[in-house]
Amino acid sequence: MGKYFQIHGCHVRFAKECAVVTHHKLEQTGDGSLQPAGKLAEPLIVRPTSETIIGESMAKWTSSYRDLPILLNQWANVVRWEMRTRMFLRTSEFLWQEGHTAHASSQEAMDRTLMMLNVYADFVENYLAMPVIRGRKSESERFPGADDTTCIEAMMQDKRALQAGTSHFLGQNFAKGSGIRFQNESGQEEYAWTTSWGTSTRMIGGMIMVHSDDDGLVVPPRVAPAHVVIMPILKKDGDNTAVMESAGALKTALESKTFYGQPVIVEMDNRDIGGARGWEWVKKGIPVRVEIGPKDMETNSVFMARRDMPTSEKTSMNRDEFISTIGDILENIQQNLFDRALAYQKENTLYMDEKKEFYHLYEQASGFDNGAFVMAHWCGNAQCEETIKTDLSVTIRCIPFDSKKEDGTCICCGGKSDQRVLFAKATNNESNLVTYQDFYIKTPGQTS
Ligand SMILES: [Zn+2]
Repeated sequence: MGKYFQIHGCHVRFAKECAVVTHHKLEQTGDGSLQPAGKLAEPLIVRPTSETIIGESMAKWTSSYRDLPILLNQWANVVRWEMRTRMFLRTSEFLWQEGHTAHASSQEAMDRTLMMLNVYADFVENYLAMPVIRGRKSESERFPGADDTTCIEAMMQDKRALQAGTSHFLGQNFAKGSGIRFQNESGQEEYAWTTSWGTSTRMIGGMIMVHSDDDGLVVPPRVAPAHVVIMPILKKDGDNTAVMESAGALKTALESKTFYGQPVIVEMDNRDIGGARGWEWVKKGIPVRVEIGPKDMETNSVFMARRDMPTSEKTSMNRDEFISTIGDILENIQQNLFDRALAYQKENTLYMDEKKEFYHLYEQASGFDNGAFVMAHWCGNAQCEETIKTDLSVTIRCIPFDSKKEDGTCICCGGKSDQRVLFAKATNNESNLVTYQDFYIKTPGQTS
């Protein structure tokens, strides 16, 4: 066990969160109770990350520059023991993706680090409709053992920051630890340059926290399991054949259309459960809800509601026009969700130069309102960072790539600074996810 903790910095980092298996499986004893069959000769550690296995494998596979670059990617479940878990954001076992590469040059490894950060940013922005700020971590927030950690940070509705993905430039540190060596073109032995990058189901938590409202989930169309639900208005004791046929034909017509290169996915809900039917789809966050009854059939129209609009807002629309523009409607919802989140982020990003003002903002923050994102000067001293963290539970989320060089004074000590960095409270802290969980326990028709 000791050996695994000593190999890499990253394991030391997660040491306190490791699950350690010490006993064999449980067996039934004479009195019917369950007892472990025995102690393991060597305890097993359920992995919190895969650097050890990956590093050892890369070392075996690499002997010449011709073996490089190597790219390994896996989707795996990892375990990090948590005292208090938070749905999607912090669970003891979670599904994540981790990628590792080894390169012959520093530049190539750095390029890959940034390329993968952009892959994450593209997915989060263009699919989950969450605007992100790209940047690098301060030294104290870096992945231990990394020369550089880049990240994407998104603002949740409670104005906390969520780290939605990281990409690390590991320099030669991990190669030295694992013995990833190769002979370069001139026959000299060198250590490889490695990277690692990962993201997890936390992204789903972020998507929920960015878009959802008091009525429930709001799912961006590009990741929604279905795009449209059709709810025919049925008569209790009448003949519903015509309405059902009309609704069925509408479903077929919509399914022949495409959105973002894929067929439009349509649900049909003909249950007779009153208002609960519509609310169920609102809570599930389906992008478009359509009602169709005898009156709509007479006027060749549909009654349509979008999940990005207030629940009560429904519009009558010509049926043919609805069918022909469904792709545009979904695209419009996708864009609207992104624009709205971006406007919120910009509105709540403040530029501050006064320490008093900075402290006042975060000291006032409580409950659902956690202040803002603040772009402020920082002298680069870890002590100032630590002071702010201790005083206010506010951390430097990143040094944004687009933060321009300018003269200023550190928000903490007043010392010289040439760049603003991004400060915020993080969702990682023990906080108020309860607020979000409340979204899901509301009953249909209940007003906020
Ligand atoms: Zn300072």
